[in-house]
Amino acid sequence: MATYDVSDRSAIVTGAGSGIGRSVALLLAANGAAVIVNDLDGDHAASVVDEIRAAGGTAEASVGDVTDPDWIASSIDAAANLAPLRIAVNNAGIGGASALIGDYPVDSWDTVIAVNLSSVFQCMRAQLPAIAGNGGGAVVNIASILGSVGFASASAYVSAKHGLVGLTKNAAIEYADQGVRVNSVGPGFIKTPLIDANLDEAAQEFLVTKHPIGRLGEPEEVAALVAFLASDAASFITGSYHLVDGGYTAV
Ligand code: NAP
Repeated sequence: MATYDVSDRSAIVTGAGSGIGRSVALLLAANGAAVIVNDLDGDHAASVVDEIRAAGGTAEASVGDVTDPDWIASSIDAAANLAPLRIAVNNAGIGGASALIGDYPVDSWDTVIAVNLSSVFQCMRAQLPAIAGNGGGAVVNIASILGSVGFASASAYVSAKHGLVGLTKNAAIEYADQGVRVNSVGPGFIKTPLIDANLDEAAQEFLVTKHPIGRLGEPEEVAALVAFLASDAASFITGSYHLVDGGYTAV
């Protein structure tokens, strides 16, 4: 297990009931953070909270939609009740429709942009001042390799993730002097329920061939990078886009 001290602080992790967010929540908690476990699904959030507590960590579930301003405000309060908020990991995301731009459903475009991009802007509007008010900390936004390269039939997702990389850079330069570091992470294809829901077995086997390491990634391999960026060990790293992609974008 990667060890990076994040004790004496709370962390909000969105979409933490599953996949990458779950692994991030478990690892931050194992490293000492008190974690707000957000998810749309109350059972999934409660299950991750149970895992954290069983391992001796501190966590509270916070069920809600990251696009909901009321949930955003409540998450800041919930974190403050545990410990000073100094970490936010904006991870919740969806895949959206698969279609060429000429056929891309406008409602799916709007939903993907709302969940994968606009929600992070809204969350950071609350998180950045709160973290700065606690003396500083770190925000990590989960983008994708598709924040730097395209992927046919995924225009909304690719556009949202490219936007998220830019939004992250802007947040970093705006809040650096208040002690808040802001970075984005670009995972390659990682074995999570999102992948299983959007790609059949043949598509997943094809994607394996696109990663020089010869397999898809595991959520824990993304969480290790996120925990490092969230910790004080990454004290000179801000405004950057960090790949964890098995070599996908090196080809
Ligand atoms: P996942 O297993 O589907 O987990 C995403 C979680 O986010 C789910 O628990 C989901 O809840 C939650 N969620 C979705 N919409 C939400 C909303 N509006 N408000 C609150 N929670 C919401 O997906 P994942 O693969 O771990 O993906 C996590 C992040 O990594 C996403 O941003 C994704 O774009 C990014 N990413 C994933 C991959 C990959 O290959 N897996 C690669 C690059 C980037 P429900 O299950 O209840 O809907």
